[in-house]
Amino acid sequence: MADAEETIVLAEMADKYGGRRQALKKVKEHYTKDTLNRLAAQNYAQAGSAYFALTEQGLAAGRQAKRAVSVLRIFCAEILGLTQKETAGHLQTLLGGITPALLERYCTLIGHAYSHKIPEGACCAQAKAHNAETVLPLNQLPVGVDALVIYVQTSQRPELLKLYDLGIHPGKTVRLQQLYPAYIIATEQGRLALDNTLTGFIFVQRT
Ligand SMILES: [Zn+2]
Repeated sequence: MADAEETIVLAEMADKYGGRRQALKKVKEHYTKDTLNRLAAQNYAQAGSAYFALTEQGLAAGRQAKRAVSVLRIFCAEILGLTQKETAGHLQTLLGGITPALLERYCTLIGHAYSHKIPEGACCAQAKAHNAETVLPLNQLPVGVDALVIYVQTSQRPELLKLYDLGIHPGKTVRLQQLYPAYIIATEQGRLALDNTLTGFIFVQRT
């Protein structure tokens, strides 16, 4: 099995190269000889004297890797609120211990493929088919439905921190009462009006 670093490389390569043959010289501009050798030794890639190509196995692993990397990047940025630089470091740690079951949990936390542009996994299709409890932005919640606040993207919009004092806080119940001309949100503390853009940064789960 690919380790964390190899997983990230495979995800990138599947995206950039697909199954096409590349000039070895070009590939070496981006990746070390050691990395390429390790991929070849695990049958993820074939390296000739002048070319490099992912094998079918490498391509399949790369597609899976891309999904894991995408899900975990969003998890780090949105749920943990990490910066891009912190995310890069944290990604290695998370990838090191990732299993398919764990990845599904992360995917559920971020609201599956239809809340984000990520490769769809079996869990995403299943959640959609069953209209399962899933995390979605507040502006996609139907009017009159109770939902639990799961997270607020305060890392993207620090001004959202003030909502914490107004009853929009992870663990609190909210409900959309009106969409137009402003979003009216019922909280446990009362009602408040919010503009549409900001409601896209509040993620909730139906209760
Ligand atoms: Zn999913």
